[in-house]
Amino acid sequence: MKKTLTALTLSLGLILPFSTFAKNNVVVVATGGTIAGAGASSTNSATYTAAKVPVDDLLNAVPQIQNLANVTGVQALQVASESITDKELLAIARKVNELVKKPEVNGVVITHGTDTLEETAYFLSLTVHTDKPIVVVGSMRPPSALSADGPLNLYSAVALAAADDAKGKGVFVLMNDDIFAARDVTKTINIHTNAFSSQWGSLVEGKPYLFRNVAKRFNNASEFNIENIKGDTLPLVQIVYGSGNMLPDAYTAYTAYAKAGAKAIIHAGTGNGSVAKNIVPTLTELQKQGVQIIRSSRVPQGFVLRNAEQPDDKYNWVVAHDLNPQKAKLLAALALTKTKDAKDAKEMQRIFWEY
Ligand code: GLU
Repeated sequence: MKKTLTALTLSLGLILPFSTFAKNNVVVVATGGTIAGAGASSTNSATYTAAKVPVDDLLNAVPQIQNLANVTGVQALQVASESITDKELLAIARKVNELVKKPEVNGVVITHGTDTLEETAYFLSLTVHTDKPIVVVGSMRPPSALSADGPLNLYSAVALAAADDAKGKGVFVLMNDDIFAARDVTKTINIHTNAFSSQWGSLVEGKPYLFRNVAKRFNNASEFNIENIKGDTLPLVQIVYGSGNMLPDAYTAYTAYAKAGAKAIIHAGTGNGSVAKNIVPTLTELQKQGVQIIRSSRVPQGFVLRNAEQPDDKYNWVVAHDLNPQKAKLLAALALTKTKDAKDAKEMQRIFWEY
């Protein structure tokens, strides 16, 4: 329980160290990535091996975090995030869920590779029911590099996870002094420390400044719950990237794949998630096999407008609205854990409107 210095001074007649009583408890769940990477020399800022440094070393490298909160670490995984499958994703969500259910834990930080960091953050916002701050953090340079960005990112992530202001606002991504909402953030630069973008808030000198709320359902308001998801796989959903001069062969390959269980395809189309004329018959064929077609866009900004350019009502397609293809993939997979009839495009669309 938090107590104020004033209250202690009055009741005990002496001053006890503020830090002992006023700090929140934050657990850092380490999963690997560059923030735990190691390079051959200090000038190797981009050439290194991810997922090497154990969680205790990460915490000990930033002793200042103990002034912000009582910080402990858990090594959940030690992987590069491009290798995260449903198994690891579900394991991370279960570990975070287990921690936020503990009364003594006030906030959780997840250290993560930046490649799929936005996907894990969004998944946590959909499946973990809590109002405690959850902060996913990474770095673009390994700890061994000159001007490594991981230590300050970790410091700021702990500050955010420990902040009472951050309660009830969903899952955050913290990178490079910026606070992002899990649903909105995406990696937009693959080589610089300002790798992520969206506009949501800032973390300066250990203090969060939040400017926006999320308009969609998340965490406690989510109909999905990690506690109701069994096993270590999600329903299979795959992405096909759109371009000019497209052949239907990739979709045909997924038709074969569909026999192994794929229930939805995210079409990362050109422009407004457009579908080339010659592709439509293949998508219709996939739908007959029970595969949902969800239109998203390869364009990073804007959103896919339903029935604009493409007759979604006629074809019974779903639009992903402003979710990028990789986040649409996760939402579709979660929707399919609930929506038994994979042909129920209306129910799938309802979910895409709401999350
Ligand atoms: N590809 C690695 C990963 O996602 C390193 C990228 C990073 O963490 O920045 O874990």
